[in-house]
Amino acid sequence: MSGRILIIDTVATNRIVLKVKMLAAQFEVDACANQTEAATVMAMHRPDLILINLSEQVEDRHAFCRQIKANPDTAQIAIIAVGVIDTSRARLAALDAGADDVMPRPMNETLLMARIRSLLRVHSANQELLLRDGTSRALGFKEAAKPFETMPHVALLSVSGVIGTNLAQRLGHGLQAKMRQFAPCCVMKQATDTPVPDLFVIDASTVTSGQDGLFGLVSDLRSRAESRQSTQLVIVPPDRPNLAAMFLDLGADDVVTLQVSDAEITLRARALLWRKSLHDRLRDVVRNGLHAAITDPLTGLYNRRYVEPHLLRLAEQSRQSGADFAIMMLDIDHFKQINDSHGHASGDRVLVQLADRLRDNLRDIDLLARIGGEEFLVAMPRTTVGQAHRAANRLRRLVNCRPFDLGGPRPSLHVTVSVGVAISSPCQPEPKHLTMICNQADAALYAAKSAGRNQVAIGRSAA
Ligand code: GH3
Ligand code: MG
Ligand code: MG
Repeated sequence: MSGRILIIDTVATNRIVLKVKMLAAQFEVDACANQTEAATVMAMHRPDLILINLSEQVEDRHAFCRQIKANPDTAQIAIIAVGVIDTSRARLAALDAGADDVMPRPMNETLLMARIRSLLRVHSANQELLLRDGTSRALGFKEAAKPFETMPHVALLSVSGVIGTNLAQRLGHGLQAKMRQFAPCCVMKQATDTPVPDLFVIDASTVTSGQDGLFGLVSDLRSRAESRQSTQLVIVPPDRPNLAAMFLDLGADDVVTLQVSDAEITLRARALLWRKSLHDRLRDVVRNGLHAAITDPLTGLYNRRYVEPHLLRLAEQSRQSGADFAIMMLDIDHFKQINDSHGHASGDRVLVQLADRLRDNLRDIDLLARIGGEEFLVAMPRTTVGQAHRAANRLRRLVNCRPFDLGGPRPSLHVTVSVGVAISSPCQPEPKHLTMICNQADAALYAAKSAGRNQVAIGRSAA
């Protein structure tokens, strides 16, 4: 998993130990001794996650975390507070300041890494949604900020009725939600007309090794279409960090023991409900507000109108993260002949099937748009020239390898595409730089056509 991590710790040995661990896990790492240095580094390279020592009294680190979470530009950065004294007061103060989790020393490395992976997963989903949301705003659509319109639904899953009831009571004080209690085995059998919970609180506090079916339950809830947008808080047994790490890796959003204070459990549950409501809202904006104006009715892909503001946002993200992005121009070879020989309707069928093949073979974070009659654009964030080249060839082969169905008794048709690729290189998020990159991809496409079609060419400055 890739990601940029910023370590803030006054003690050099602490910084070095953490940095070595993070580098070994293939993350990009910056390490700073104080907030001033950290602010400078953050202005150059926006981190995805911060590991901050909150036990040091040298500066007001809690206020620093609060500022990060209050600024819309940085609010998405995940924060893990390290070195916190393990008292409920210190833990709560860290969480209240905006930390997503608290890791007292000595830190369990397996749990730390699982927590980082889990937070980075959420961070990347957030970035994607915000990228699309930002694009929608740039297009002039306004969304109303609205929290949950109705009370959120929380499902408490526990094999023990006593623990379940106790949990309901502990959460009930501070959480405005409709709570229902189930045995874990019954949750999948819920009637389809009951609302899908916004949060599952799963009691694994008495499991010994995870065989009690709860590992399966967590990953099942995460993968099923009905429940995968819900959040999950797993109650884990104390002193079993490896078990907690396993739950996080399987898809739990947060883990906590019953030993923490009521206030902490409630705070964590509330944070997950807030996250869920934000995601719901962003998805709605994308789904409803924009659909008609920015999609191509034939293929359902984004159209040219959507592309420009999206690319500006992408360039801005790339400037902040320091990671390149790739632009591909993809054009069907001899498409006019297809229309001329088989009719316009067959040409349309080819366009629709091609769009489906491309869409199914790109990452969620990639943008695929139809920008002309038989011309498509792919924008790939965080992509090197080598990765873009391989992806372009994969897409080209995907078209070439299987003929296209023209419908009815007509024989299927062999179709090829040519692809031009360009890489952002450090660029300013300005229209003229983006035009330059798109022109490079266009020139590469032209070169691929001249060289005989059904091939990929890389733009000059990227080679
Ligand atoms: P090349 O290999 O050089 O790309 O040749 P080409 O024939 O693909 O390119 P050309 O630009 O000469 O022709 C593109 C054709 O695409 C012409 C136009 O009629 C057709 N076209 C554009 N939009 C649509 C559409 O929505 N449906 C169909 N069926 N055809 C379209
Ligand atoms: Mg063509
Ligand atoms: Mg063309």
